[in-house]
Amino acid sequence: MAVPIYDNHVHLNPRGRNVDALKAFEAAGGTGVTLVTLPYEEVVISEGEDFLRSFRIALSLAERGREATGLRINVAVGPYPVLIIPLAERFGLETAERIMTEGMEIAARLVTDGKADAIGEVGRPHFPADADILEASDRILIRGMELASEIGCPVMVHSESEPHTCPDLRRMADSAGLDSGRVIKHSSGPLVTEAENRGVMPSIPASRTTVREALSKGTRFMLETDYIDDPGNPSAVMSINTVPKRIKAMTASGEMSAEDVHRICGEIPESMYGFR
Ligand SMILES: [Zn+2]
Repeated sequence: MAVPIYDNHVHLNPRGRNVDALKAFEAAGGTGVTLVTLPYEEVVISEGEDFLRSFRIALSLAERGREATGLRINVAVGPYPVLIIPLAERFGLETAERIMTEGMEIAARLVTDGKADAIGEVGRPHFPADADILEASDRILIRGMELASEIGCPVMVHSESEPHTCPDLRRMADSAGLDSGRVIKHSSGPLVTEAENRGVMPSIPASRTTVREALSKGTRFMLETDYIDDPGNPSAVMSINTVPKRIKAMTASGEMSAEDVHRICGEIPESMYGFR
């Protein structure tokens, strides 16, 4: 059986390498990705329905990727959390919150219809912002968690990474009736123990030192690059072949066992996205 190699956070840009990047990932040994929507230059968000046009770009990139490769491509759609700031500047916070919430509902509809596989990346700005922006962001996220709990799908969270973050996410998931194991913390530190993550699933950047530290505590985590596919700035993040490269090197050196790989890149993504 082929070794599963899964990257849980990849962006593709219609103007970037997009399908070619997926081909390079597959050639490096990759078997699956979570393709996460970003705001695209092609769509300015001025009302809730604009999110649908934006999410359709991700869905069509995924479709093209499936035609060109044998990869399992799970798609996460959702209102990108930082967007609340320019929306609040243009329309006021109340309207911004409504537009973001509509984006959340459109994302959930696409998952219900079987077109997308997760709600994400959603959450709150990862940098200090006004308290009222953060409070509105939390309300929008809780709405997303409620919808995810009805559907049974995961929520990929973009947020700050502070000691209070996982306890906050756990509290919000509990109040929304969502199993905290359905909450994925994107760009997480190696918070592998239950005491550290409160049941939230960490998705950890695939750098050598971080993966090493994570493995020293267990195997309940996912790996990601946050590949950004920005034609103007190709070196902004890890390259698309980082997860395959890291796994191959760490299995060759004996730091990661075959069972570890099957858990991290096989069983966990399957249980996360195979909810239908
Ligand atoms: Zn991202």
